[in-house]
This record gives sequence, C-alpha cells and structure tokens, in this order.
Amino acid sequence: KKVVYLFREGRADMKFLLGGKGANLAEMTRSRLPVPPGFTISTEACSSFFAANETLTEDTMGQVRAAIRQLETETGKRLGDSQNPLLVSVRSGSVFSMPGMMDTILNLGLNDETAEGLAKLTRNPRFAYDCYRRFIQMFGDVVLGVDYYHFEQIIHSRKEAQGYKQDTEMSAEDWKWVIGQFKSLIREKTKKEFPQDPEHQLKQSIIAVFQSWNNQRAQIYRKIHKIPDHLGTAVNIQMMVFGNMGDDSGTGVAFTRNPSTGEKELYGEFLMNAQGEDVVAGVRTPQPIARLKQQMPAVYQQFQEICNLLEQHYHDMQDIEFTVERGQLYILQTRAGKRTAQAAVKIAVNMVEEGIIDRDQALMRVDPDQLNQMLHRRLDPEAKLTVIAKGLPASPGAASGKIVFDADRAEKCAHDGTPVILVRPETTPEDIHGILAAQGILTSRGGMTSHAAVVARGMGKACICGCEQLEIDLRKKEVAIGELLLREGDLISIDGSTGQVIQGEVPLIDPELSAEFKQLLDWADQVRTLQVRANADNPEDSAKARELGAEGIGLCRTEHMFMEAGRVPIVQQMILAETRDERLQALQKLLPMQKEDFKGIFEVMAGLPVNIRLLDPPLHEFLPNIEDLLVELTKMQMDEQSDRTELIRKEALLRKVRSLHEFNPMLGHRGCRLGLIYPEIYKMQAEAIFLAAAECLKQGIQVEPEIMIPLVGHVNELRQMRELVDQAAEEVQLKTGCTIPYTVGTMIEVPRAALTAGEIAEEADFFSFGTNDLTQTTFGYSRDDAEGKFLHTYVENKILPDNPFITLDTEGVGQLVRMGVEQGRMKKPGLKTGICGEHGGEKRSIQFCHEVDLNYVSCSPFRVPLARLSAAQAVI
Ligand code: ADP
Ligand code: MG
Ligand code: MG
Repeated sequence: KKVVYLFREGRADMKFLLGGKGANLAEMTRSRLPVPPGFTISTEACSSFFAANETLTEDTMGQVRAAIRQLETETGKRLGDSQNPLLVSVRSGSVFSMPGMMDTILNLGLNDETAEGLAKLTRNPRFAYDCYRRFIQMFGDVVLGVDYYHFEQIIHSRKEAQGYKQDTEMSAEDWKWVIGQFKSLIREKTKKEFPQDPEHQLKQSIIAVFQSWNNQRAQIYRKIHKIPDHLGTAVNIQMMVFGNMGDDSGTGVAFTRNPSTGEKELYGEFLMNAQGEDVVAGVRTPQPIARLKQQMPAVYQQFQEICNLLEQHYHDMQDIEFTVERGQLYILQTRAGKRTAQAAVKIAVNMVEEGIIDRDQALMRVDPDQLNQMLHRRLDPEAKLTVIAKGLPASPGAASGKIVFDADRAEKCAHDGTPVILVRPETTPEDIHGILAAQGILTSRGGMTSHAAVVARGMGKACICGCEQLEIDLRKKEVAIGELLLREGDLISIDGSTGQVIQGEVPLIDPELSAEFKQLLDWADQVRTLQVRANADNPEDSAKARELGAEGIGLCRTEHMFMEAGRVPIVQQMILAETRDERLQALQKLLPMQKEDFKGIFEVMAGLPVNIRLLDPPLHEFLPNIEDLLVELTKMQMDEQSDRTELIRKEALLRKVRSLHEFNPMLGHRGCRLGLIYPEIYKMQAEAIFLAAAECLKQGIQVEPEIMIPLVGHVNELRQMRELVDQAAEEVQLKTGCTIPYTVGTMIEVPRAALTAGEIAEEADFFSFGTNDLTQTTFGYSRDDAEGKFLHTYVENKILPDNPFITLDTEGVGQLVRMGVEQGRMKKPGLKTGICGEHGGEKRSIQFCHEVDLNYVSCSPFRVPLARLSAAQAVI
C-alpha cells in the first residue's frame, strides 16, 4: 500500500491522507511556488504504526528510503555524504492544524563528519555548527527525551562566560564547544552516544513525530477543539533551507490579514539569521515584517505577491511560514490562519465585497461558537487607567485577574473560581491547559505570531506578548516593572487590543457591534427559515434580546418574578396559607406586581410574540431550607429575649417546609400539577397577563401573549388548565372591553406528552419543547446529580458522545421531539412549534431543530446571534 507521497504527487484536497501541512506543501509545489522538495508519510502510516504497537513497518521504511533516493536525485545531495550532505526536516502535520502541539526536527542528517563537510562546503563553520547544535538539541529533546532546558542551560552558560547577549554573537568556536557539551549531556542522560547514522536518525525521528500525536498537550488541544483522536498525524520530510546563513538570510511567519482585527494588511514577523523555530517558539521577540521591506525590498515584494496568490487560491486568509536563504525566498507552510471572532467576521464580509467568496461561504466561515467573543464586555475607553507596561496586542479583549506564574497553578485557581492572568516569560505548547484556564495571557518575550498568541486567538482569550519591560522571576514568583514589584495573587488587567497592562481591575462596558457583524447576521437572516427567539423574564433582558435580533420571547419564566426582593414574604404567605381565602389574599397582593412585570416586557417586545410559562418549580423552592431554619429556631429557643410570636411563626414555617418536603422534587408537585391543585395561582397569573395586555392595547402597543402550561403529560391536564386560562381571558376582556389576541399551548417535556402529542395538540395552539426536562425524563437522569457525579466520566469514557444537557441527544430525546412535531401537526396542521431548552442556543442542536422543521428556537439573549448564524448554516 502506498503510504509515501512526493510533494508533486499530492493536492490540497488530500488533507485527510497527507495532513494539512503536507497537502498544502503539495498544492504549492504544483502551483510552482518556491517550496523546498520533499515528501509526506501519510496518516494511514500513522494508524498502522499505532496498530503495530508503535513500530514502523518495513513496508513504510522501504517507501521512505525510496523517496529519499528521489530527493537525493532531485537535489544532487546525499544523506550522510560528507562532501555534500542532504539535510532534511522531519515535520509533524495533522489533518486539522494544531500549532506547535506536536514535534518537528530540523537539520537531520548532520553528524560529526557531515557537519565538517557542511562547514567546508559553505565556507561557513559558524553556520554549520549552529545547525548541528540545533539538531542535537531537537533530536535530544524530541527523540531521546532529554529536557530542552538542559540544552538551553549549556548555551546560556557559554553566553554568560563570553559576555554575549544574543545567540547571534556566538562564534563557530563557541558552538563547537556547545556541541561537545551537548554530546556529553546526552551520554550522561541516556547512557548512549548521540547517533551518527543518518538513516537511524531518520527512523527514530519519524517514530517520535508519530508518537507526539499522543503527547499530553496534543491530547488537551484536541479535546478543547474537538478533534477526533483517531486521525493521527502525517510526517513531512523536506530538504532544509537555511535562514541562519548570515545577514542575507532569515525566517519568518506572516498572516495575509490581521488575525486579531481582520484588517487587510500583511501581519507578520521575522528574524534575521535564524531558523524557523526561533520565531514560532516565541523565544526571541522578532521584528515586524515591515522591516523586511527595508532590508530586502525584492524579497519582500516577491513575498507579498505570493501572499496574494495564496489568498486568492485558497479563498481564505493564510498563515504562511517562510525562510530566506542568502536572498532566496522559500515558502515552508501555508494554512488557513487562526483568527479571533472579530477577525473572522470582518474577513468573511470583506472577502464577499472583494469577490473572493460568496455570501453562503462567508456564512459558513464563521464558527457560531466564536460569536460570543464579540459580545464580551470591553474596556471603558473613558476610564482612568494605571497603565504599567505595554506589549504587543496579540489577541483582543479585556481581562482582569490575579497574577499566576505557571500553568498548573492557573488551572487550579480557575478550578476554584478565581480569575487569573497567566504571566510567563514565554508560553510553550506545554502551557495549553493554563492558557485555557486563564482569563488572559501576558508574556515578556515572543511575538504576535508565536504559538502562544496563535493558540490564544484560537480560543478567544485576551493576550499580550513580548512585553519586554516585565522582569519575571519565576522562582520568587514576582514580576518587576521598573520600580514596581508585583507578586503572585496581585490583581492586574490586560487589554489585548492595545497591549496595555493595567494595575488593578478595570471598568468594562458593553461591546460595540461592528458593521461587519451586523452585515453577516443580516445575510444569515435572509437565508434561515428557523425563527430565533430569546428566553427572558424582565424588560432589560428582553431589550437586549431584541437588540441582538430576537423575534420574540420563547420562554418567560414567571418563577424568577416570585423570587424578586420584597416579594418572597408574600409568596411565602401564599404558600403557607391554611385556607383558600388566606391564599387568595396573598395572591391579590401579587397580582398587581405580576401585571407590571408583564407590562414591562410587552412594551419592550411590542409587536412580537411573548411566550409566558405559568409557575413551574416546586413550592419549597420559595421557602427557607430546613437546616437553616432548625439552626435559627434552636438559637431562638435558647435565647430568653426572643419574640414569642416570631418563634411561633417560625415553628409553623418549619412544619410547612417539612410537609412540602419531597423525595424527588424534579418529579414531584410542580408544573401544571400546581395549577391543578391550586388553580387560584395560575388564575392570578393569567389575569395579570391579560390585564397587562389590555393596558398595552389601550396605549396602542401591539401584544401577542402565548400562555404556556408546563409539564403536561396527559391531555386532560392541559384541557383543564386551558379552560381556566380562557375563563380568565373572558373576564378581563369583559371588564376592559379589549379583545386580546392570545394563544394557549404547552411544553412538551415529559415523554408521555411526546408520545400522545396528537391528543395534546387538540387542546394546544403551540408546542414548546422543553428539552432540559425532556432530557432528564427521557434519560431518567436528574441533571444536578448527573453533572456532578457520573456524566463527566460518561463523556470522558465515550459512553455518551456528548453531554446531553449541552448538545441535544438527537437519537433519543430528538426522536421524541420529531415524533411530537409530526403527530401534533398531523392533528393540527400549522401547529406552531419551538424549543426553549438550553439546546436552543447550541449550534448542533439548532441544526437538528431545522431538520425536524420547528418554527423557532429560543435561547438566552446573548446567544441570539449564534442562533441566527447557526440557523442559516443549517440551510446552507
Ligand atoms: P509547527 O507545526 O510546530 O509549526 P513546523 O513543521 O512548521 O512545525 O516546523 C517548525 C519550523 O521549522 C517552521 O516554522 C519552519 O520555518 C522550520 N522548518 C521546517 N522545515 C524546514 C525546512 N525544510 N527548511 C527550513 N526550515 C524549516
Ligand atoms: Mg509550522
Ligand atoms: Mg421544564
């Protein structure tokens, strides 16, 4: 089986076989761009490697050797030839790009002899030894497992002894000394000599790169970005070109557009006299690409042309790695650039305007999950700030938190709920879990194209890089900025849009929605067929929802209104009432308050439907908890001075709380079961809704109330509650002389309701699928118990593909939804259907809602943009 492909044999669409890097190197080779020759070992070889217990099959190695011979013919150099050695890089490259998460080895093929040969051939011993020491270092780290840090230590000691500041000051002799030390280090750590045979080096490197698929950081990265574990990585073997040959050489990375803001400008960095890793690893802070224009105008011009070409070719913003060897430009990688949400939206819209992509493509370009980033609060530009330092604005957004200096600590703090800013000299891919946990990232070294910055942008985290004023002491856990000394736990803020580091916390304000954001969502609205509503239960949230494009309220929970300050005692009075009269008295007090609640929402949502759910939770949720009460009572009983009547009241309360105690409240006396046993509660709510509606109508405000009865399982429940609501409506209409355009419907949130949807539809004007409860009752999981106890393990061990409370279980719960819609519509064509569970704001669930032909999804106000885009993507 063919598992090795020369670059000229591949194409961009062979990404699953060749990995992203390999497929694009092939595509560029085809397009006659200056790509050093090479070949790719496919992801299938990786799978065979793991299937064969991590051994490289003889078949694979045979094909590799044959490809090496091809490469030798093509380049006129030979692997291991001391006169004219072929040097190659061994580069990982998975299907979906995972910047820096896996390993790469450069300058392979060097040994004591070929290093001398290279020195003679190039008449540049300094360069040859620099290459050799880099190779030993990478091979030692990646293949032999000798910590990178030990190598750095040796270089550092030499620089110190010689009084150098930069690596570039090291002479041939210095590097030669370093090489000697490196080899001793390896002998000491591995009890073996550094391997001299290039073929052995090659085989071991391929194995190590395959294995790096399973290193910890790669696993974490895959989990965060939902990349399947079985894909594996390809390996690219490529002739080396050298950016470290002197001052007419260098290496760099550039984005064809600004990946933070989306601005159309070349955004990149480069280092003179360096090898690739130096830029992306974030060890040295490189120079902005504009400098290249001054230093090598012809190269810059050529590079810019290639950038344009690649963008046109791939119809997307590209992230390009390049190297200049003695004035000659080489392209080493191109891929779709990772970008922030803001940039994603701007680039998509601009590219439509530039005619590079069409609207549908633009809509598919933006991940709905990313949109929330754009709704993050931002720094108040009016605020007075104590700016203490400035670095490179690597990923926008404002973040505040306590300083921590390592990733493990960041993870721990975040786990305890403390927001932190991860402060590091540089971040390496090893820090990925810390980057995920932190609110923001601040580094003293590294550029805007460093892996840390790329990863932060991909996650939408605020990030500042290369803030060189910071003097970080990791051991003492301190950072000095001039005179100022900050310690772990001190509060700082960063603004990733400007690069400002600020002492203390900062005031945040609502985001400004860009013109491109509105444009894209406008296009989404033209495409989608699902309507988007919001879940909101007060005028502020309703206004926010409307501003973000909601076309109505899909769920207004009335229980939150009962919890509002000042109302709890009245609600308790209602619950504690011993007689119906007493209960009615309390309800009469609540009525005007509820009426005002609804009026506020109706006013904001004028002209749009508002779906109001009558009281749903078990009553004990409004009462104090038993333990607290007991403690209080004991205290009162022991205190001579305590008020007798208060004591008696508390005792009565305790009795009532005890009597309302349920073994399983989720399945207890709640939902319409409350309305059936205490009809006066629902009656009051219905009256309040209609009175509010009538008042609005009189003021010329259009209203469209939808009254929703929760937790119905049998049609009789709905029939009786509907009668009650209709009666309330009639009374109010009679009293006010208004005709109120209302409808009555139900939630479908227990399996029996879905199973008997046909019958229920006879009494319902609409169905709203309450998929939170429907998931609980279908799986038989109590959500609060499941999430803490076993669901996590279930997902981890792939017993369930996803947490069903986050992503709708389309195979189980979804079938009930599908069945409910079909049977309901069979009985009542045109029955309005929607979803109001948390799934209404999740992209994959929205896709499903579109497929089963719901009329609308409803989600929290801030998810409305996400839902609009997802609904459009479901159509495309
Ligand atoms: P990563 O996936 O971590 O970016 P790469 O395989 O892209 O790893 O390699 C890291 C760096 O090494 C690149 O930035 C590139 O500039 C440099 N590099 C890789 N192969 C070569 C080569 N054949 N010649 C010169 N530099 C190379
Ligand atoms: Mg790369
Ligand atoms: Mg419910």
